[in-house]
Amino acid sequence: AQERYASIRDVPAITTCGTRMTLTMNAGLMADLPSLENSGAEGVGLFRTELQFLVRNQMPKRSELSSLYAHVLNSAKGKRVVFRTLDIGSDKVLSYMKPNDEPNPALGWRAIRVGLDKPGVLRMQLQALIRAADGRPLSVMFPFVAQYEEYQAARAEMDKAMERERILGHPVPSSLEVGAMLETPSLAFAPKRFFQEVDFLSIGGNDLKQFFFAADRENERVRRRYDTLNVSFLSFLTNIVERCAETGTPLSFCGEDAGRPLEAVCLAAMGLRALSMRPASIGPVKSLLLRTDLAQLRAVIDEASERGEQSVRRAVLDHLRSTT
Ligand code: PEP
Ligand code: MG
Repeated sequence: AQERYASIRDVPAITTCGTRMTLTMNAGLMADLPSLENSGAEGVGLFRTELQFLVRNQMPKRSELSSLYAHVLNSAKGKRVVFRTLDIGSDKVLSYMKPNDEPNPALGWRAIRVGLDKPGVLRMQLQALIRAADGRPLSVMFPFVAQYEEYQAARAEMDKAMERERILGHPVPSSLEVGAMLETPSLAFAPKRFFQEVDFLSIGGNDLKQFFFAADRENERVRRRYDTLNVSFLSFLTNIVERCAETGTPLSFCGEDAGRPLEAVCLAAMGLRALSMRPASIGPVKSLLLRTDLAQLRAVIDEASERGEQSVRRAVLDHLRSTT
């Protein structure tokens, strides 16, 4: 399938209305790295660092992590890589950590909540990332941030780690960006100060959708019940886009929907300009973007919404079939 899209691999993703989209890939294992070359990804928009913890049966050492991350940065050859700090808990359980007996793990002690309450591992990871960067630019983001204060506390850990490395005489990154995943609805309503302070945001659509509709992403019975192209969800996404535009906060979308062509063009029509997805999705998504007029598509979405349709999928499909 990759070959089918080889001819557009190095073509920038520009829609017929002239909008430039940035398409990056999601990764987490060393085996994903060759895709950076052959998928046409402009970088790694989401590096899920927990996968390296999940494939082991004991806690990795700082030096091991540091060489792993250095390998990722070397393979990226200067392309941007966004490292997401450990996102464990809920569906991702480490065999060497005492399991929590929680009635609702998805709403429980997970991700940055663990990172802030027991900061040992987070500190080790931040130090490993700084060392791996070895004077190169570094981008880090924190998962599952639900309120401004959590971002501030996590960022303070980053600042402390930088200071410690400086004192030890190690090279620090030439530039540092510290972002957050927007995957709990509450964060979309954080104070304006948060949007001004955070270096970038990435919408974790998988979790954001699960919490928006209160429908477990792991539960087959309800997981497909609510459409991503549901007008309520699209309107919520538009709010986020507008809040970010107001403060000039760079925004991307890295949930699975970014890799589905129909969903991806709708995300673009709602104002998203950066999408991160499985490497194999870059070709198909780019191919459709290259044939889409976002302004026209947005009009179709708005009209369907005004007619009172629950999901704009039907209208969008009909429109794309007749125009692309
Ligand atoms: C998400 O929630 O959309 C996301 C990208 O993170 P994960 O799927 O790893 O929870
Ligand atoms: Mg998530």
